Amino acid sequence: MKRTRCFICIFVLLSVLLLAGCIATGIPAAPVSADTLFESRKTTPAIPGFSRTRTASLSAVGDILIHSKVYDSAKTNDGYDFVPLFEKVKPYLEKSDITIANSESIIGGAGIGLSSYPSFNSPFEVGDALKDSGVDVVSMANNHTLDRGIPAIENAINYWDELGMERTGSYLSAEERDQITLMTVNDISFSFLSYTYGTNGIPTPSGKDYLVNRIDKELIKSDLQQADEQSEVVVLSLHFGDEYQPLPNEYQTGLAEFAAENGADIILGHHPHVLQPPAWIETSDGRKVFVIYSLGNFLSGQNEIPRQIGTIFTIEAEKKIGPDSSEITIKNPSFTNTFVKNRDYSWFEIDLLKNVNPDLNEEVKSHLSTWINDLQFIE
Ligand SMILES: [Zn+2]
Repeated sequence: MKRTRCFICIFVLLSVLLLAGCIATGIPAAPVSADTLFESRKTTPAIPGFSRTRTASLSAVGDILIHSKVYDSAKTNDGYDFVPLFEKVKPYLEKSDITIANSESIIGGAGIGLSSYPSFNSPFEVGDALKDSGVDVVSMANNHTLDRGIPAIENAINYWDELGMERTGSYLSAEERDQITLMTVNDISFSFLSYTYGTNGIPTPSGKDYLVNRIDKELIKSDLQQADEQSEVVVLSLHFGDEYQPLPNEYQTGLAEFAAENGADIILGHHPHVLQPPAWIETSDGRKVFVIYSLGNFLSGQNEIPRQIGTIFTIEAEKKIGPDSSEITIKNPSFTNTFVKNRDYSWFEIDLLKNVNPDLNEEVKSHLSTWINDLQFIE
């Protein structure tokens, strides 16, 4: 989210100029009759029964999975700098009101020793670059959350908090786990939940289930209920599915339907490391829920073309405010496909796929459109 206050500046400037104009000419502003005021208040709202409309946009990207080749490439004299890797996609990430990323490799920091596959630990500076690029929320529940144990989780959470990054899915206490992550923009409140299918066989330390949210239907159902009570748009991240498969499996589609029925509004899938298409799910109470089954990798050291492709997914929440109630609609899903370029596997950059390989971009667009014909692509 880029906080621009230009419109306020322009408003103040215009007010000053108008005031200055009145003083200079000495002509007072024309008197406004009570009738005129009454007429202007009587203006028919655009949507019958609703007087105002608000819109908020949400963007999401997939896995931020930092292999050693990637952090080695970002080494500086006194640490790491990942900011240049995001330079080309930053304008797309920061233009939405809220942007969420999947922090797949935990940022436990160099102090406890960095590590790569299969047990990841990434530099704090990955967090700095995400923050700088306009990311507002990170999803932390995934199969690598427990890779480096409690010290890495503590370091990562403390660093995210220091940065002012909202986070969901991994916590330092049971009390914290039970607090829903909330953000309000343009008068629309969002909540964020995150769960993983597993943690690569690493058990959660006894009595510390709050360290990572696991996919458990009863837990998800009760969290969704709480999130629904506290917010207008519930954003659910699910780390699930089969790696490298272009389509979701029955478990993914079934779980997404369950989550939609139980209150999720937008479902963000990740883990397969490749893109899986989105779909609309119509619930029994008439809501339209949007699910993207896998957002693929956004930044990783994986060096096979399908795993270098990612996407920036954007969707809008529209709120129609009436005298006694308001109504939320999820609409206008769009995608901007990306590609992680590397030079000799030692220099990395995220670029738009259309700049790297336009033909491949067209293929990816048609794959993403598998179940939605009128999907929009912003490039
Ligand atoms: Zn994963």
